[in-house]
Amino acid sequence: MGPPHSRKLTVIENTQASAGVINALCFDIDDLAYSLKTKNGLSFSSEYLVEKETYGLLEFLDGLGLKATMFVPGYVAEHFPGLIRAITGGGHDIGSHGYEHIVAEQLQQKRFSNDVVRSKKRLEDILSREVSTYRSPSWGITARTPWAYDVLIEAGYSVDNTAQPALLKHLGRSPWDMMPFRYKDRLTVIPITSFRFLNRSVPFNGGFFCAYVPIGFQIRYYASLNEKGMAFNYFCHPYEFNPCGANRQVWKCNSLAATMYGMYFGIYRYYLTRLAGRFRFGPLKEAYGSYIEPKNEGHVKNLVGVLQ
Ligand SMILES: [Zn+2]
Repeated sequence: MGPPHSRKLTVIENTQASAGVINALCFDIDDLAYSLKTKNGLSFSSEYLVEKETYGLLEFLDGLGLKATMFVPGYVAEHFPGLIRAITGGGHDIGSHGYEHIVAEQLQQKRFSNDVVRSKKRLEDILSREVSTYRSPSWGITARTPWAYDVLIEAGYSVDNTAQPALLKHLGRSPWDMMPFRYKDRLTVIPITSFRFLNRSVPFNGGFFCAYVPIGFQIRYYASLNEKGMAFNYFCHPYEFNPCGANRQVWKCNSLAATMYGMYFGIYRYYLTRLAGRFRFGPLKEAYGSYIEPKNEGHVKNLVGVLQ
């Protein structure tokens, strides 16, 4: 991005940062080495760095007065219960990110059920409060897991933030439609924010999807959504935001997948600073509260029985 754009954007950012739509800020509190091991079988680092990276993230968010929804895998909660309490102590919401951080398709129905029940219970035991929001690891609820939303309902979840455009299509909805909807009147599904590219709807909600997209472009697109009165949801991982120790050298794995996963070392610190200067953010339930609160369900369309 060249200097003329920067100058123009700065003016816009300063004038509109505190007004308008509240957007959802989310983080998946994953450990990079653990994810690489479960996903690609790579042995990368023997120590968990997620704790240190997340404390760095909390400090940053505190400095900007930002509150978010943090999706925590059960295995992270198991190792670092103090971190989970620090997250809620900082005024952030907690959601479940599964227990083992393995996609639903790989787990299959029975193990998926055990995974989401176990994760919910572990988080609730630590926090002594209900945890009812879920986001699948690696966006792993797809057309190939038609039972997944029913399992989430059975496990006691009421909000999901996993649905990518392809899943929306499978559910009989438009892949362009980013508005929340109710699945079987029990689960509020908040689709992930997407973008029209080559006449296809593609995920565009931070993380890997936006890692290589200039921030000026991101800002213009999200501003266009807010101008239409639409909230967007945005996320990244602590290791993308604030990589510590070995995570800064993930390219040493000699794996293209691992390198792509983490080569933009810390760029989200810059991205989030820019976005926070331009947009209002809050946890998922604040950004989409009117769709989640039962008293306002009049304008949430029901989707009944599509996955039968
Ligand atoms: Zn994850």
